[in-house]
Amino acid sequence: MNIQNHLPTYAENHARLPKSYGQGFCPWVPIILSSSVTEDGNALRVSTVVPVYGTKVDMLRRVSPDEECRSDMGFDRGAPHSLYIHIPFCISKCTYCDFNSTVIKSQLVGEYLKAIENEFQLINKKYSFKTVYIGGGTPSVLDETQLSRLLNIISKYVDVFNLKEYTIEANPGTLNNEKIHILKNSHVNRVSIGIQSFNDKYLKFLGRIHTAKETKDIFLNLREKGFGNINIDLIYGYPGQTLNEWKMDLRICSRLNPEHVSAYCISYEQGTPLANLIDSGISKKLSEEEELKMYENTKDFLINNGYIHYEISNFARQGKECQHNIVYWENREYIGIGTGAFSYVNGERYCNIKDVKEYISNVKSKNSLICFSEKLSQKKRASEILIMALRMTSGISKHEFLDRSGFDLAELFGKQLSNLAQAGLITFDDERIKLTRKGLSVADSVMMEFV
Ligand code: SF4
Repeated sequence: MNIQNHLPTYAENHARLPKSYGQGFCPWVPIILSSSVTEDGNALRVSTVVPVYGTKVDMLRRVSPDEECRSDMGFDRGAPHSLYIHIPFCISKCTYCDFNSTVIKSQLVGEYLKAIENEFQLINKKYSFKTVYIGGGTPSVLDETQLSRLLNIISKYVDVFNLKEYTIEANPGTLNNEKIHILKNSHVNRVSIGIQSFNDKYLKFLGRIHTAKETKDIFLNLREKGFGNINIDLIYGYPGQTLNEWKMDLRICSRLNPEHVSAYCISYEQGTPLANLIDSGISKKLSEEEELKMYENTKDFLINNGYIHYEISNFARQGKECQHNIVYWENREYIGIGTGAFSYVNGERYCNIKDVKEYISNVKSKNSLICFSEKLSQKKRASEILIMALRMTSGISKHEFLDRSGFDLAELFGKQLSNLAQAGLITFDDERIKLTRKGLSVADSVMMEFV
């Protein structure tokens, strides 16, 4: 699951929120952190975290250094340990997709990889990354030569031997033996497969390019070639899907025995073919009750099958929790490279230009790559720390909160916390605050109390 792709705007999130607890359910929607508007007035999606200082910031940022208003309190001062690289190409567009992706054109890929290398040069070997995540788009759509080139570029700037986790996203139908061999030789140690469904009828409905058989084949092939850390991405709750069909997907998934499962409820993003089908009345959304039943079933099934439910929509075998995504959920710093990639450093968030051609052209002409930046006030940052931490089932302790934000949790959010505890949505356990089972099902509503 590529978190950077799933960040709706604050306004969108508000529009979707139910009026009261218990009516809303949208575990698919990662929580929005703040509102943002670009210079041309367009609202931006705001992801979790990212950082950029030194050379890259000085060269790319639009805000002047005088505008700096960093706080010395609470900031995670260490250098960012996580790197995200965005590959925005796909074979075709899925019906539900409004992610930052475009249909692949071979000529553009060469120029894009060159631009990525140039962006890497800006950060040079300044950081000692612990996790690298290549997301998209569909990174595995690159041909063998392009894939080798991308991985070579990364190896030039990152000490890949010492990475704790090195993930690439791959889609069935785009990965062959040669590419798997290239990944292995380049020290990639985790593959996240966008399977979404094991049902051919729904794969077609969702606009996926692969069949259920291909999804199993790619998984078994990766296993056979020695990959011991594989994530399967699944989606549920789309029009027409029954609870039994979803249960079947979960059963097939668990038979494959991946180390990690991300299971998200479908979201209807404006302007996508799927949303148009709903708006025109051709397809009908499942009810919130049906979605909720599927979510509850997902948790029960995967937990009973030995997975740890460690984040609202994420499950892992012991020790296989996604280290890269935990950086986002712990609101720690990271750097993003490529179109639309977010970075977060010293309480300052940046987003690269989304358009591939504009990105390439700005890299060539050494113009700014940043289309949006935002300095977080101490209070906003504290709010984000709590909101993101509550996505994790382990929550956050009062001490951690104080340590990371500089605020006393009770002083800042005492009223909200006691209301939510009274409603049975959060709990204090051994000094930790976390969502209850009921709270997890209406997480968006709970989080909005802290915005
Ligand atoms: S594979 Fe489909 S859902 Fe994923 S980024 Fe490409 S078009 Fe979007």
